[in-house]
Amino acid sequence: MKTKREINEKIRNGSAVVIPAPEFKKRVREGETFTPEDVDIVTCGTFGVMSGTYAVISVPVAPPGTFRKAEKLLLNGVPASIGPCPNERLGLVDCIVYGTAKRDERYGGGHLFADFVAGERIGVEAEAEGRRYSDDITLKDCTFARIHTSRSAFKNYTAFLNEEEGIIRTIFSVTGLSGPYKEISVSGCGEVNPVQNDPGLRSLSSGTPILVNGVNGIIVGTGTRSTAERPNLACAADMIGMDPLMMGGFITSDGPECLTSIAAAIPVLDSSSLHALMVLDEEIPLPVAGISTRQPIGSSHYGRVWQGTDRGVQIHADRCLGCTPCLAHLICPAGALSAEQTLDRSLCLACGACASVCEGGVFTMNLGSISLDKNDIPITLRQSDRTRAERLCRRLADEIMDGSFLLSEGP
Ligand code: SF4
Ligand code: SF4
Repeated sequence: MKTKREINEKIRNGSAVVIPAPEFKKRVREGETFTPEDVDIVTCGTFGVMSGTYAVISVPVAPPGTFRKAEKLLLNGVPASIGPCPNERLGLVDCIVYGTAKRDERYGGGHLFADFVAGERIGVEAEAEGRRYSDDITLKDCTFARIHTSRSAFKNYTAFLNEEEGIIRTIFSVTGLSGPYKEISVSGCGEVNPVQNDPGLRSLSSGTPILVNGVNGIIVGTGTRSTAERPNLACAADMIGMDPLMMGGFITSDGPECLTSIAAAIPVLDSSSLHALMVLDEEIPLPVAGISTRQPIGSSHYGRVWQGTDRGVQIHADRCLGCTPCLAHLICPAGALSAEQTLDRSLCLACGACASVCEGGVFTMNLGSISLDKNDIPITLRQSDRTRAERLCRRLADEIMDGSFLLSEGP
């Protein structure tokens, strides 16, 4: 058995063997065998809609003594909950902003967080004792800004479908889920997800260093609704230095949602941790439930989502019917598609929504399908981006190799 201290020593002297999860899984899939001596760390990551994300921010509103307590606060129009500290007469307002708070149907807390870390100017509007205050600030003006996740990186998420006739608006769809049994929406990055590779949370414990939205953070503990069978993590990191492309907003048929990313280094301490790391998409259950009842309907596996399917959208501009307005542009949940159908691949999640709504067939993408009772039901939306999750795995491996990220040496 190796200890984390020994692995850290190997990182410091440049002899640690660190393999990003995508490369490690590829080698496992090709039949390569490993012993605990062959590899020290596998880096894992996940990126997708994580509704439990929120930020705690100290917002400067006015000079000290200007008002006693603020009663209302909007940041770029997104409502913030004031407190818990009243900061009486300081002109400074501590607040909590939910990633799912919304200004309107196209902009919410997730968008605000990404704009903050991108260095954008953020409009502040506050009300206190009958007076209104407004200003523009940047992240640098805030003495405290930290993102928390109340539950993230779930071990095998649930896929959802609509069992009833008609369309149901839900956060698990962009245009509403059509039923009965017409389409399935999926979440989760499968075999590269940190919790999937350490399901007993042996290394993913409280105080463990991780990356949250691309910057150094920690695991606080397990999150809400975490169970031994389906654990998830509560995490935290300061917003300064976060990568706006590793977070953001995502527009669903029930309003804006929040994109968050988590990356973790899983040490290979013994054959047990190595065994857990060898899990592949096709071995990871993907429960399927009805969207209105939330009751299980069946089960599949992540191989149906991430193996043999497309990672990016193909564009066939010559097929465009010139609809006004362009529906694909209107519904793109990541704002990656302009009205002229120019695609910003840095924002595109490869969610597949444009391929579902474009009647001309301009956008094509094989998102796979799930078999239930001998019926093959097409996957029409992915709420996680495996490509960006894999990029995170590689980024964290690089940070470990250059000595800027070490394992915690606690129990
Ligand atoms: S929805 Fe498709 S066919 Fe219609 S304008 Fe947009 S890209 Fe063209
Ligand atoms: S796949 Fe299409 S709808 Fe989804 S983010 Fe990319 S461009 Fe937008």
